[in-house]
Amino acid sequence: MRAIPEAVSRLIDEFSRLPGIGPKTASRLTFYLLRSPKEQSLTLAEAIGQLKERIILCSVCFNITESNPCAVCQDEGRERSLICVVEEPLDVLAIERTGEYHGLYHVLHGAISPMDGIGPAELRIRELLERLKSGLVKEVLIATNPNLEGEATAMYLARQITSLGIRVTRLARGLPVGGDLEYADAVTLTQALEGRREM
Ligand SMILES: [Zn+2]
Repeated sequence: MRAIPEAVSRLIDEFSRLPGIGPKTASRLTFYLLRSPKEQSLTLAEAIGQLKERIILCSVCFNITESNPCAVCQDEGRERSLICVVEEPLDVLAIERTGEYHGLYHVLHGAISPMDGIGPAELRIRELLERLKSGLVKEVLIATNPNLEGEATAMYLARQITSLGIRVTRLARGLPVGGDLEYADAVTLTQALEGRREM
């Protein structure tokens, strides 16, 4: 005899597979939904379903978007000679929140990490170098995370890009070492943008 109905244990299992959610939180979320109006569960399920249906990657910058090219790439008001390279779409959000950056972006979808088998070929680096060949870009601002993988990625990119004769800068002071860009507050990130240094 099962103490917990299958529909309940199944949802607990699914929640447990999400990052940062342990079995305890998974149970709490499941029983919360069980007690809530049916409407709430259906809305959540629909939102999850639409995520994969509506969201695509921009074919230019590889940020997540509902239209291709994305709103930033289409925006004529953006400085087209400057590209900010980040690891994840959430980093774009963090930098946009500062309101201080007006260039374009390029999302790598990760960082170089030999331990995890992630090399340059697993990231959107080839596409970035391809973009730079247009000759329009004068500066690449590397905003990978200030940790081991982020630094390794920055060094690799700097070598590739400076050989194309393009200026390479890196986010500077203020960012906590070992931290994640997406969690940096807007003030810290603004300082880092202003204090970017030559690579
Ligand atoms: Zn784009």
